[in-house]
Amino acid sequence: MDSKDLIHLEDVYGAHNYHPLDVVATKAQGIWMYDVEGRKLLDFLSAYSAVNQGHRHPRIVKALIEQARRLTLTSRAFRNDQWPLLAKELCDLTGYSMVLPMNSGAEAVETAVKTARKWAYQKKGVAQDQAEIIACRDNFHGRTVTAISFSTEPSYRKDFGPFTPGFPIVPFGDLEALEKAITPRTAAFLVEPIQAEAGILIPPDGYLKKAAEICRRNNVLFIADEIQTGLGRVGKLFACEYDDVRPDIVIIGKSLGGGCYPISAVIADRDVLGVFKPGEHGSTFGGNPLGCAVARESLKVILEEKLVQNAAERGQSFMDKLRKIRSRHIKEIRGRGLLIGVELKPEAGGARRFCEELMKEGLLCKETHDHVIRFAPPLIIREKDLNWALKRIKTVFKRLA
Ligand SMILES: *Cc1c(COP(=O)(O)O)cnc(C)c1O
Repeated sequence: MDSKDLIHLEDVYGAHNYHPLDVVATKAQGIWMYDVEGRKLLDFLSAYSAVNQGHRHPRIVKALIEQARRLTLTSRAFRNDQWPLLAKELCDLTGYSMVLPMNSGAEAVETAVKTARKWAYQKKGVAQDQAEIIACRDNFHGRTVTAISFSTEPSYRKDFGPFTPGFPIVPFGDLEALEKAITPRTAAFLVEPIQAEAGILIPPDGYLKKAAEICRRNNVLFIADEIQTGLGRVGKLFACEYDDVRPDIVIIGKSLGGGCYPISAVIADRDVLGVFKPGEHGSTFGGNPLGCAVARESLKVILEEKLVQNAAERGQSFMDKLRKIRSRHIKEIRGRGLLIGVELKPEAGGARRFCEELMKEGLLCKETHDHVIRFAPPLIIREKDLNWALKRIKTVFKRLA
């Protein structure tokens, strides 16, 4: 079947909850994807940062296959020999003392919400069912009913109510609003250190640090959603490091599974994650040996191949080069590491048509909201491949001038 047939089948039989670019991938390796017609395309999205290590990294695929040959699932009713090792390795890597494994990012966000609420009742003494978690305007924390309950994006919420209560909203980057929103019932402040889905929005310098201080002063947990920004994407292991912040709870996912397997985790210290007792929370697949073996290798690849450093170096030089593009359409280029947003002026006619043209040139990008093109290639990318991409980007900006 060719692309046209497959797109037709998808449109007829698949629910229409996405609007993908019309490219049908059939294989991939490293930074490259191949469509069913054999066309080679450079992946400049990395599955929203879930393939930071590149597609089908040989070491991660090997870990996946070897583990699949031994043991894949026990449920947590029994123990397995991979989860304890992943838990320890994640603690060693991050400097926290406990980990709770889940599968998707949204589930890990739900877990962090449950953790903060339980902590508020057990440790802070908030009255039953009164706990609040402050979230930021324009956030993205996933698609579950609770996660969209604190979304401010109308299309994510429309016709999905009633919503989970207890989530006051403050503008991202506004310390005064945060301070004002805190009450004795506040359990936590939940924030993305860089708002990726909102259009690669980087908060003012010192915002996270001061927000963390406000939280500490008020006995409020600081929860960082590093699902997209974490594990090297932004040129540090965690985006919070740019502000020297150690969150009380860190949420990770996406590239924890190396693009091969869905796995997420909530990481914190014992005084926080220790609130759970047996039976109070769980997941059939959470902590399964297949996912844990993949995650262990995915982390090793990030460290041993120095992907954090590569993201920092390649990202800086690529952003410098992007900024030299002269186009009346570009309003701003911003980013950290290899999470880069090109914001177009409203008159440019939207980011989507740029992405469609880039695809014709062999570069796979995705718009975020209407006016921002996101550039987020796998962190293994080399300078010469970025130059290849740059040439295509320049061509498209010239063509659509
Ligand atoms: C992708 C993402 C999520 C949701 O992860 P899923 O695995 O899609 O459920 C949550 N928060 C942030 C910041 C994300 O980028």
